[in-house]
Order: sequence, then structure tokens, then C-alpha cells
Amino acid sequence: MTEETAPTQIKHAPLAGVIGMPIAHSRSPRLHGYWLERYGLAGHYVPIPVMPEHLAEVLRMMPRMGFVGANVTIPHKEAVLTLADTVTDRAALIGAANTLIFRPDGKIHADNTDGYGFIANLRQHAPDWDPAGGPAAVIGAGGAARAVVASLLDSGVTELRIANRTKLRAEQIKAEFGARLVVYDWAQVGNMLDGATTVVNATSLGMDGKQPLRIPLDALSPAALATDLVYTPLMTPFLTEAASRGCRIVDGLGMLLHQAAPGFERWFGHRPEVDEATRQLILG
Ligand code: NAP
Repeated sequence: MTEETAPTQIKHAPLAGVIGMPIAHSRSPRLHGYWLERYGLAGHYVPIPVMPEHLAEVLRMMPRMGFVGANVTIPHKEAVLTLADTVTDRAALIGAANTLIFRPDGKIHADNTDGYGFIANLRQHAPDWDPAGGPAAVIGAGGAARAVVASLLDSGVTELRIANRTKLRAEQIKAEFGARLVVYDWAQVGNMLDGATTVVNATSLGMDGKQPLRIPLDALSPAALATDLVYTPLMTPFLTEAASRGCRIVDGLGMLLHQAAPGFERWFGHRPEVDEATRQLILG
């Protein structure tokens, strides 16, 4: 297209947002708003409540409204894969996307940065953590667990044990992710921890308002690193007990912060720093 025939491009500050339902509780607008202000960037990031039956229509309209991308949360993380024009390998493998990029031609590119956020959080808060140092044990087999499994395998974990209340979901993950996985019965989850050097709570147990994760930690080695995806509260009952056994612990807030960074960089053009100031902003 020549300059003469090209449609007039309207210059405006880039828009991004988070799509979900409900969405009022999301901390993403605060986080991205903070980074925009901190780096003096033009742009806006807004929460967008979307009902499942409106998702396709909303996604079609957003690029026309000036949106350059979006984060995606419950309940749309799986559905966006079927609506995107291109999907990264890791999002396809995980079966969910949390980051969308709207290309100038209106095409939608879907990625999943949860696994990146999970590993970046461990690397930041436990720099000497060695994924290949011994078996990893993942408790839970929901959407977030799939991202954790993908990222742990990618990081070089040689044996990955997994247990879930609904065993079928763990078996499904093994069927998709392969031979390095070993599925344990939910009743055997305590035994699964024996010899594990990385232990992850990827269930929603321990969240404010939910039951704690009640599993025997007798077999948990003090040399293990324990981490939780739940970040409300920061110190979950699981992390508190692991710490009392001498384990290094890493809370789940850093995962939330790190998973947001790649999207922010793509939309607003600056890689944001995930530091103590960022953490305090979200905690405050
Ligand atoms: P999900 O797909 O709904 O999976 C929930 C998981 O918790 C499943 O494994 C489920 O087991 C298990 N579970 C729930 N209630 C249980 C109970 N009473 N007893 C035993 N197991 C139970 O959710 P998700 O998206 O994977 O999220 C899991 C957690 O991670 C949530 O708390 C979420 O907020 C958190 N998360 C944090 C981050 C972060 O950035 N830190 C990112 C993503 C998610 P069944 O399969 O048997 O139901």
C-alpha cells in the first residue's frame, strides 16, 4: 500500500487490559499502572469484565478500539486459544493463554507467561536453586499446575512427581507431558515428597477463605525448596509449615509480578523491573 492510499493512522496512547469475570479483584491494573507511571510511558491498562458468550465479539473489537494487547484470566484462559490466530508452542502445550498481543493487522497472538513467571520468581528469590538437583513434586493438576509442569521440565527437572485430588487430571498431564512424570495417588501425596528437592503447591488450597492444604510433611527434607502459587495470604499454612521444617520457601506473589513483565514490554515498549518497590506496591 502506498502512502497516498494508506488509511490515516490515528496516533494514540496504547491501551491494554485484563479480560475476566469477575475482574474487580484483579491486581493487574494496579501493577501495570504503576509501571506506566514509573517509566513515564504513555498508555492505559484497564480491567474489562467479559461474559463468556461475549468473548469472541470483544476480542474482535478490541484492536479496533486501540488495544494493543490484553491479559486473560478466569474463565477465558482456555477459550482464547480457539479465538487466537497464532498460539505459541508453550501456550498450546499448557492449553491456556494469559497474554494476548493484537498485531497491527488485527490478528491475535496468544502466549502463556505463567511458567516463565513461576521460574523467574524462584530464580530471583532462591538464586542457587537447582532444578536438576533432584525430583520435583507438584501438588495439583489445574491450569496453573500445567504451566508449572511445562516450565519445570523446560528448566531441566529430570523427575517430576504429581498428585491431584482428581487423579485423572494428573494422568492427563502425564499423557501430554511425557516420561519424566510420575503420577501419585492423592492419598500418597506425603510419600511423594520423600527425596523431592522442589515442592510446589499448585492447588488453590490455602487461599484466604479456603481450607489449608492438609498433607503430611514428615517426609519433606529441610534441603527442599517449597513454593506456593497462592499469594493471598503470602505465608500460606503450607509455606509456614515448610519453613518450620527448615526448608527455603518462596511465596507466590513474585510469580504474579514476573508473568506480567513480558506483556508489558510488548505493549508499552519497556521491560519493567520486578523489584521490592513493585512488590510493596501490590502488597500495599
Ligand atoms: P484450577 O484450574 O481451578 O485448579 C485448582 C486445583 O486445586 C486443582 O488441582 C484442584 O483439584 C485443586 N483443589 C481445589 N480444591 C481442592 C480441595 N478441596 N482438595 C484438593 N484439591 C483441591 O485453578 P488454577 O488456575 O490452576 O489455580 C490454582 C491456584 O494457583 C489458585 O489459587 C490461583 O490463584 C493460583 N495461581 C497463582 C498464580 C500466581 O501468579 N501466583 C498464577 C496462576 C494461578 P481437582 O482437579 O481435584 O479439582
